[in-house]
Amino acid sequence: MGEAVAETVGERFRELYGAVPEGVWAAPGRVNLIGEHTDYNDGFVMPFALPHTAVAAVARRDDGVLRLHSADIAADPVELRVADLTPGSDKAWTAYPSGVVWALREAGHEVTGADVHLTSTVPSGAGLSSSAALEVVVALALNDLYSLGLRGWQLARLCQRAENVYVGAPVGIMDQTASACCEAGHALFLDTRDLSQRQIPFDLAAEGMRLLVVDTRVKHSHSEGEYGKRRAGCEKGAALLGVDALRDVPYAELDAALERLGDEEEVRRLVRHVVTEDERVERVVSLLESGDTRAIGPVLVEGHASLRDDFRISCRELDLVVDTALASGALGARMTGGGFGGSAIVLVEAADVDTVTKAVEDAFAAADLTAPRVFEAVPSAGARRVG
Ligand code: ADP
Ligand code: MG
Repeated sequence: MGEAVAETVGERFRELYGAVPEGVWAAPGRVNLIGEHTDYNDGFVMPFALPHTAVAAVARRDDGVLRLHSADIAADPVELRVADLTPGSDKAWTAYPSGVVWALREAGHEVTGADVHLTSTVPSGAGLSSSAALEVVVALALNDLYSLGLRGWQLARLCQRAENVYVGAPVGIMDQTASACCEAGHALFLDTRDLSQRQIPFDLAAEGMRLLVVDTRVKHSHSEGEYGKRRAGCEKGAALLGVDALRDVPYAELDAALERLGDEEEVRRLVRHVVTEDERVERVVSLLESGDTRAIGPVLVEGHASLRDDFRISCRELDLVVDTALASGALGARMTGGGFGGSAIVLVEAADVDTVTKAVEDAFAAADLTAPRVFEAVPSAGARRVG
């Protein structure tokens, strides 16, 4: 995040609102290395922050007015009253920052208004959490300006509440925590039950590797309904097994648990994914901590197979990325995010970046698919003040 961006955003704020901002903040999007669809099962996730960020210039107001503007949306600033913010009332992008103000006030924090101008380099709707970046950047700015003293994980909780209740999207806690708490050169091992976290060294460049993100540019319209179905199926599995959440089914007891589910075929598949995925996260943590980074490749591939065959949320384009990348020499690859489109990640030797990228691009062209967007993901810093 260069100072230049902070200055541009500050300058635009001044043009819009006729005053200087009190500061400029940045919050990143994220990629999940491993631990997919585990966060609503009280399980483990392991995201890292992208270099792509939402950047916001913000100033306080004491008259109850909230003005919001995005450089990426062609419209004048939206003006709202903080006292009138109502969950579910806003279907536009402004619901994300408004929801944060609403959640802060609901939690008893005195936020009396703000002027906000923001812009973001996090691709929107690509499964890279542009929404969490928007929420967290606004939450961090207000936390600083109103001296609320909230820690990263607490801001993440409030942002999740904003998205769940105000926006109306049933997301877990991973995205907001990643944006708020990640550190450069690390992945974040997060226990979504108690929110305990550990920074795991993940400096691929130092070890001669790269991690590519391949945005398939596919967004299936039915993904929300399918998400709800998977979530409900996991809850059913937990109820049938008599546990609070699937997190409580130990990996060593998976076979016995599957047997107890009898002919509940669909629930069995969902349970098997979640329980094995938690185990994969733990395996990746220990491999990274023991310096055996290349060995995480096959674990990523196992994770993809589980999401494709058991959880059934992959799609043709995601499978094409994974299969092509592996066939052209990648160390590992898997879909990441909610599924049915969005992005895949590919772990490669630095020397193979061009070969693998070209193979994936060629495979998409040969299949007559929209060209994917491929970029390198360097594990970057979490939310911070930049100006
Ligand atoms: P994801 O979080 O995977 O990118 P979401 O659907 O959760 O996808 O969030 C995308 C939404 O976030 C957009 O539809 C838009 O409302 C909002 N958004 C993202 N980036 C911006 C931006 N730069 N300016 C305004 N709104 C944005
Ligand atoms: Mg989102």
